[in-house]
Amino acid sequence: MGDCKRCGTCCRDVRLAESPELLEKAYGYWKKTKQIDPNFSEIYLIYPMLTFLFENQSEDLPYHYACKHYTIDKEGLPACSIHPVRPRMCKDFPYYEDVSHLQKEENLSPYEGCGYNDPG
Ligand code: SF4
Ligand code: SF4
Repeated sequence: MGDCKRCGTCCRDVRLAESPELLEKAYGYWKKTKQIDPNFSEIYLIYPMLTFLFENQSEDLPYHYACKHYTIDKEGLPACSIHPVRPRMCKDFPYYEDVSHLQKEENLSPYEGCGYNDPG
Protein backbone atom coordinates (compact mmCIF):
# COMPACT_ATOMS: atom_id res chain seq x y z
CA MET A 1 0.00 0.00 0.00
CA GLY A 2 1.26 3.47 -0.88
CA ASP A 3 0.66 6.78 0.89
CA CYS A 4 -1.55 9.82 0.54
CA LYS A 5 -0.46 12.06 -2.36
CA ARG A 6 -2.46 15.05 -1.09
CA CYS A 7 -4.50 15.31 -4.25
CA GLY A 8 -7.57 16.44 -2.26
CA THR A 9 -10.01 14.21 -4.12
CA CYS A 10 -11.37 12.47 -1.02
CA CYS A 11 -12.26 15.86 0.58
CA ARG A 12 -13.78 17.39 -2.55
CA ASP A 13 -15.75 14.17 -3.11
CA VAL A 14 -16.44 12.54 0.28
CA ARG A 15 -18.09 9.20 -0.39
CA LEU A 16 -20.40 7.65 2.21
CA ALA A 17 -22.87 4.81 2.57
CA GLU A 18 -25.28 7.24 4.28
CA SER A 19 -27.80 9.39 2.40
CA PRO A 20 -28.27 13.11 3.12
CA GLU A 21 -31.68 12.26 4.64
CA LEU A 22 -30.14 9.78 7.07
CA LEU A 23 -27.39 12.23 8.04
CA GLU A 24 -29.97 14.95 8.65
CA LYS A 25 -32.05 12.62 10.81
CA ALA A 26 -29.02 11.53 12.84
CA TYR A 27 -27.97 15.15 13.26
CA GLY A 28 -31.43 16.06 14.53
CA TYR A 29 -31.19 13.26 17.06
CA TRP A 30 -27.75 14.46 18.14
CA LYS A 31 -29.03 18.01 18.72
CA LYS A 32 -31.66 16.71 21.13
CA THR A 33 -29.25 14.46 23.01
CA LYS A 34 -27.73 15.79 26.23
CA GLN A 35 -24.74 13.48 26.24
CA ILE A 36 -22.97 11.95 23.26
CA ASP A 37 -22.22 8.26 23.48
CA PRO A 38 -18.57 7.98 22.35
CA ASN A 39 -19.27 4.45 21.14
CA PHE A 40 -21.98 5.69 18.84
CA SER A 41 -20.97 6.47 15.28
CA GLU A 42 -19.78 10.03 14.70
CA ILE A 43 -21.78 10.09 11.49
CA TYR A 44 -24.21 12.63 13.00
CA LEU A 45 -21.33 15.01 13.69
CA ILE A 46 -20.25 15.25 10.08
CA TYR A 47 -23.62 16.36 8.69
CA PRO A 48 -22.91 20.13 9.05
CA MET A 49 -19.62 19.89 7.18
CA LEU A 50 -20.92 18.18 4.06
CA THR A 51 -22.72 19.43 0.98
CA PHE A 52 -24.50 16.72 -0.98
CA LEU A 53 -23.32 16.42 -4.58
CA PHE A 54 -24.95 13.35 -6.16
CA GLU A 55 -25.61 9.63 -5.70
CA ASN A 56 -24.67 6.58 -7.74
CA GLN A 57 -26.39 3.45 -6.44
CA SER A 58 -24.08 1.17 -8.42
CA GLU A 59 -21.23 1.99 -5.98
CA ASP A 60 -20.44 0.58 -2.51
CA LEU A 61 -20.38 4.15 -1.19
CA PRO A 62 -23.12 5.68 -3.30
CA TYR A 63 -23.49 9.16 -1.73
CA HIS A 64 -21.03 11.86 -2.77
CA TYR A 65 -20.46 15.06 -0.76
CA ALA A 66 -18.10 18.03 -0.79
CA CYS A 67 -16.51 18.98 2.54
CA LYS A 68 -16.69 22.64 3.65
CA HIS A 69 -13.34 22.33 5.42
CA TYR A 70 -11.44 21.56 2.27
CA THR A 71 -9.06 24.40 1.45
CA ILE A 72 -5.80 25.28 -0.30
CA ASP A 73 -2.79 26.08 1.90
CA LYS A 74 -0.10 28.77 1.46
CA GLU A 75 1.93 26.44 -0.75
CA GLY A 76 -1.08 25.96 -3.03
CA LEU A 77 -1.67 22.38 -1.88
CA PRO A 78 -5.00 20.79 -0.95
CA ALA A 79 -5.48 20.96 2.82
CA CYS A 80 -7.96 20.48 5.66
CA SER A 81 -8.81 23.66 7.61
CA ILE A 82 -9.62 21.63 10.75
CA HIS A 83 -6.84 19.08 10.41
CA PRO A 84 -6.02 18.69 14.16
CA VAL A 85 -9.67 18.04 15.03
CA ARG A 86 -10.89 16.40 11.83
CA PRO A 87 -13.43 13.57 12.27
CA ARG A 88 -12.37 10.01 12.84
CA MET A 89 -13.55 8.98 9.38
CA CYS A 90 -10.90 11.33 7.94
CA LYS A 91 -8.18 10.17 10.32
CA ASP A 92 -8.96 6.52 9.60
CA PHE A 93 -9.32 6.82 5.83
CA PRO A 94 -9.14 4.54 3.84
CA TYR A 95 -10.08 2.10 6.63
CA TYR A 96 -13.86 2.38 6.74
CA GLU A 97 -15.79 0.13 9.08
CA ASP A 98 -18.24 -2.39 7.63
CA VAL A 99 -17.74 -1.48 4.03
CA SER A 100 -17.78 -4.23 1.47
CA HIS A 101 -15.04 -2.80 -0.72
CA LEU A 102 -12.51 -3.79 1.97
CA GLN A 103 -13.64 -7.40 1.76
CA LYS A 104 -12.92 -7.68 -1.94
CA GLU A 105 -9.52 -8.09 -3.45
CA GLU A 106 -9.78 -4.63 -4.87
CA ASN A 107 -8.35 -1.22 -4.18
CA LEU A 108 -8.35 0.01 -0.57
CA SER A 109 -9.48 3.48 -1.57
CA PRO A 110 -12.56 4.09 -3.73
CA TYR A 111 -10.78 7.02 -5.45
CA GLU A 112 -9.08 6.50 -8.75
CA GLY A 113 -5.47 7.61 -8.55
CA CYS A 114 -5.43 7.59 -4.72
CA GLY A 115 -1.95 6.93 -3.31
CA TYR A 116 -3.35 4.24 -0.99
CA ASN A 117 -4.05 2.09 -4.04
CA ASP A 118 -0.42 2.18 -5.15
CA PRO A 119 1.71 -0.84 -4.41
CA GLY A 120 3.59 -0.29 -1.14
S1 SF4 B 1 -7.68 10.60 -2.57
FE1 SF4 B 1 -6.00 9.44 -1.62
S2 SF4 B 1 -4.12 10.47 -2.32
FE2 SF4 B 1 -5.84 11.89 -2.64
S3 SF4 B 1 -5.90 13.16 -0.76
FE3 SF4 B 1 -7.33 11.43 -0.50
S4 SF4 B 1 -6.13 9.86 0.57
FE4 SF4 B 1 -4.68 11.32 -0.30
S1 SF4 C 1 -12.73 17.40 7.54
FE1 SF4 C 1 -10.78 17.79 6.52
S2 SF4 C 1 -9.90 15.75 6.10
FE2 SF4 C 1 -12.11 15.50 6.53
S3 SF4 C 1 -13.13 15.55 4.50
FE3 SF4 C 1 -13.13 17.62 5.35
S4 SF4 C 1 -11.31 18.62 4.49
FE4 SF4 C 1 -11.06 16.40 4.26
